[in-house]
Amino acid sequence: MMHFVEVVIPEVAGAFHYHLPDHLGAPLTPGMRVLVPFGRRQCIAFFVRNIARPDVAITKPVLSLIDEVSLFTPERFTFFVWLADYYGQALGPVLSVGCPHQKPVVRSFYHLTPLGAEADHIGAGLSLASALRKKPLLKQALKKMGVSPRTLSAMRQQGFIEERWEVKWRKQRKPAPGALLPYIKMAESVQKKIPVLNPQQQSAADEINQALKLQTFAPFLLHGVTGSGKTEVYLAVIASALEQGRGAMLLLPEIALTPQIVARFYAQFRDTIALFHSGLSDWARNDAWWRVHARSARLVIGVRSALFSPISNLGVIIVDEEHEGSYAQEERLYYHARDAALVLARASGAVAVLGSATPSFESFHNVKKGKYRLLSLPTRVDARPLPKIHLVDLRKKEDWVQPYFTCHLVEAIKNRLELGKQIILFINRRGFSPSLVCGDCGYLPLCVQCSVSLTYHRRGTYLGCHYCGFQVVPPTQCPKCSGIRLMPLGLGTEQVEEVVKTLFPTARVARMDRDAVQGTDKQQTLLMQMAAGEIDILVGTQMIAKGHDFPGVTLVGVLCADLSLAFPDFRASERMFQVLTQVTGRAGRGEEPGEAIIQTFQPQNENIQAALRQNYVEFYEREIKLREEGRYPPLLQLILIVLRHQNEDLVITQAKRLGLYIKEAMKGIALLGPVPAPLTRLRGFYRYQILLKGQTRRVMMATVAQAMKRWTERRGVVVEVHINPQNFV
Ligand code: ADP
Ligand code: ZN
Repeated sequence: MMHFVEVVIPEVAGAFHYHLPDHLGAPLTPGMRVLVPFGRRQCIAFFVRNIARPDVAITKPVLSLIDEVSLFTPERFTFFVWLADYYGQALGPVLSVGCPHQKPVVRSFYHLTPLGAEADHIGAGLSLASALRKKPLLKQALKKMGVSPRTLSAMRQQGFIEERWEVKWRKQRKPAPGALLPYIKMAESVQKKIPVLNPQQQSAADEINQALKLQTFAPFLLHGVTGSGKTEVYLAVIASALEQGRGAMLLLPEIALTPQIVARFYAQFRDTIALFHSGLSDWARNDAWWRVHARSARLVIGVRSALFSPISNLGVIIVDEEHEGSYAQEERLYYHARDAALVLARASGAVAVLGSATPSFESFHNVKKGKYRLLSLPTRVDARPLPKIHLVDLRKKEDWVQPYFTCHLVEAIKNRLELGKQIILFINRRGFSPSLVCGDCGYLPLCVQCSVSLTYHRRGTYLGCHYCGFQVVPPTQCPKCSGIRLMPLGLGTEQVEEVVKTLFPTARVARMDRDAVQGTDKQQTLLMQMAAGEIDILVGTQMIAKGHDFPGVTLVGVLCADLSLAFPDFRASERMFQVLTQVTGRAGRGEEPGEAIIQTFQPQNENIQAALRQNYVEFYEREIKLREEGRYPPLLQLILIVLRHQNEDLVITQAKRLGLYIKEAMKGIALLGPVPAPLTRLRGFYRYQILLKGQTRRVMMATVAQAMKRWTERRGVVVEVHINPQNFV
């Protein structure tokens, strides 16, 4: 009886069938890697299952077994299968993210078969046979010996010799220089002030720890206002999990921006931490991976991809700032780390804790449905007050001292500077201004490849596209009307920095956005300077709103809140509420109370009013009704299909055709479109989208799959399918 197996391959979609030759015949477990012939190459594949009957008439043999033990425990394998299935992706590429990034050395050796060893009449192959009798040889070695290809193939055909494959990994150099090094020094300083949990932190930690004892899946949402000390709760829970001999995982939206958190964990858990982030070399990453695999590291801390590390016997998984957009990966492998974390916790019988001051609507909706248990930290530690927020009406132009700097804001800054306190100014656009505009005819320079206006960068004196990176020298004359009154429209971080420097010439001003801090080092330096009080005014984008704990900051200014609402996205208000709460939450985290000024053109706007009152639940209750009316997540499931091609007519025709097939296959799913995607032109491609809304993702996915199968004449149109996407571009 032939032994048939189904495998998947990292580079290719689909499952493939092979047979397992007797000499390899070890029992295989799911996720084990094997070497298989694929086309004219040899590929590494993952064993999925044994099968009774292959779907091809003649199967090829598996060439070699790579792992003695699968790199995937049964729970982990289940988790990866879920990932692939839920996001409608091929299993092969998904499994490969669960392995270390090592390059294999694949070699084949010639062996003498038992038949060859006993044969009398070997003829031309005699010298080869006697060489192989001593030891198996590489093909190159045979060439050197002068064995002709003819002899080789004759010997093979007669069954005297056979080729056997071997896969080896290049030796991993010894331990990578600690990825944790940058945090060790910082840890010394936090060590001195390790706090004792206050009663509200203690009761949250107790409740989670009780669930941890039961060793079954239990999801929690930890809703704690900014500065309520969520981190200390995480520490307490992780300590309990480790004491139980179980593993723990902490996901952070970003590591470079929040080094203090890692330092705080290092101070307590030291070398049992394995750190994963995008700045690691393959070497350091693999080192961390194997430490987790060998169980010498039991606490994984990292960004979204840390989910794929091989932690065993997981007790708790924590997703800090769970509302953050960076948990969604929407290119190559699509997944949302928050959702995936819950599935991993369920597969492992672990506790899941999602923490935020501004929970995502998805998570809060799950609380309302009774799926997650809610834990609240309604006040800041040490009874520190939340910042007092003032709204300033930008429509009163007489109050403007400089563009977007009202006298109210300027006074407040002056005041804080005199007291030696730090200030954060937030504007959610980088660059000098979102655009240049012709003062005569209104012409806006657009990207040649994307349907967006070019951002004006004064520092580098160029116009740049924030999507594709296209750059040009700004025109001095309008290309349309030849007018010479070209001027900046709207404002960005660079302009704010410039104005701040003219208004407060003696203040130490720094800017933090993606242009200013290209490398991790630059970010760290800025954050250290800020923590050390060497910066008076920090100007920045969302980057400065994230989880920082700078006790010296007592004033936060939001230059124009309206910019956060101006996105064509049903989540625009949710995001605006989040960013305003988070950025104003940076004020008054030390002993002195904080204050925030939000400038806006629409002080009556309900969402801005809600941010002013800092009442998340009130905001949620009102906004969720609009989601219900508009039939949007979290009440429904969305599938976004984006089609693209360089030829616009072609993409329109094909989008219509696919839409038709979906409609024909559909029961109870609403279909919107095809319509031009918000970025109708991106990097030279025309983009059209179809949006599906429905109750059950599974049914919707099946419908899409059915339609895709029928849609045979797509003519090079590229399609992306996004499940519950976070961004519409
Ligand atoms: P959050 O993440 O909820 O915004 P953090 O965890 O950053 O808040 O904590 C805010 C600050 O309060 C930190 O400086 C932290 O060291 C401090 N802190 C946390 N818990 C306590 C406590 N029980 N007593 C005193 N200070 C605390
Ligand atoms: Zn562009």
